[in-house]
Amino acid sequence: MTTLDAATASALLNSPKHRAGLNDLVLEVTSVSRRHPWLARVSGRVPGLTATDPTAWRHPNIALRLAIPDPSDDLGPLIGQPGLCRRVYTVADVDPDAGTVDIDIVVHGGASPMMRWLDALRPGDRVDFAGPRPHPAPTEAAAAGDPVYLLADGSAYPAASAITRACAVTTVVLAPPDAAERPDPARFADDFPGARILVAGESATPLAAALATLSVPSGATVWAAGEREDIRSLRTRCLGELGLPKKQVQVFGYWRRGKTGTDADIARLTGIARLRERGLELTGDNDFDIEI
Ligand SMILES: Cc1cc2nc3c(=O)[nH]c(=O)nc-3n(C[C@H](O)[C@H](O)[C@H](O)COP(=O)(O)OP(=O)(O)OC[C@H]3O[C@@H](n4cnc5c(N)ncnc54)[C@H](O)[C@@H]3O)c2cc1C
Repeated sequence: MTTLDAATASALLNSPKHRAGLNDLVLEVTSVSRRHPWLARVSGRVPGLTATDPTAWRHPNIALRLAIPDPSDDLGPLIGQPGLCRRVYTVADVDPDAGTVDIDIVVHGGASPMMRWLDALRPGDRVDFAGPRPHPAPTEAAAAGDPVYLLADGSAYPAASAITRACAVTTVVLAPPDAAERPDPARFADDFPGARILVAGESATPLAAALATLSVPSGATVWAAGEREDIRSLRTRCLGELGLPKKQVQVFGYWRRGKTGTDADIARLTGIARLRERGLELTGDNDFDIEI
């Protein structure tokens, strides 16, 4: 049950600050394929994309919020979208001149709204989305020639790949869903040009465990995204044992085991409303204080 009311949710989601730079667009699916056994690619055309700001699409890490069917979603009715839930996906690739977009979706095997939608998806299908939303990327550190470490599970594989294709990255640590099969890092080389690629072992917190085995220089920037508790533990190590300053630590929880994307949205909207009552805003720093 949520304590979030419709007026608060709508006010936050429709505020000029939240909507800045977002377009309401439609993805017309042209193909559905597999990049890896655990990663589906959905490619499509976006009518009207070429009329939007092309620079926004050239940022190395951007995300879209897809509106997909879910009759039982708790947030949809509060924001005037009953029967729909919203799920966030990275733009794996985009051609702003041609108006085409690719997104890569982890096939995690649950009976979730995204898995049901993906199962039934066929060329010609359409999905509404809002975007592009820029997310942090270690562009300045890479441009300065500082060592850049990226750590990503399957959900952050598309973002880590997009960043590596745009910036000079030293080391990429991947925690793919098939880690138990010990995949050869060479299998991922095309998606991470120029970077040393390591594959994390099996663990409840694979990225944090992998980080603990690396010697990370004090001038390094660490970017990491994936399961929230894994990233929380990795963040604690970066700021604690490794003593990296906060500006060299860009880390994000993309999903939380046992919780839905809607649970995360409701928790964050509730958290933002509470912070604003105290004159504060949600930031990368206090996001981990929110209980999802
Ligand atoms: C900025 C951002 C960018 C993202 N980019 C991508 C991306 O490019 N590709 C991508 O695949 N995901 C990405 N994600 C994560 C994605 O939004 C979530 O995984 C989403 O919750 C999946 O929706 P669902 O309907 O399948 O599952 P939900 O209904 O949200 O959850 C149902 C169950 O599935 C579990 N679950 C959800 N995701 C995973 C997972 N990846 N592995 C195992 N179990 C899971 C949940 O813990 C829950 O128990 C991104 C998230 C953010 C915030």
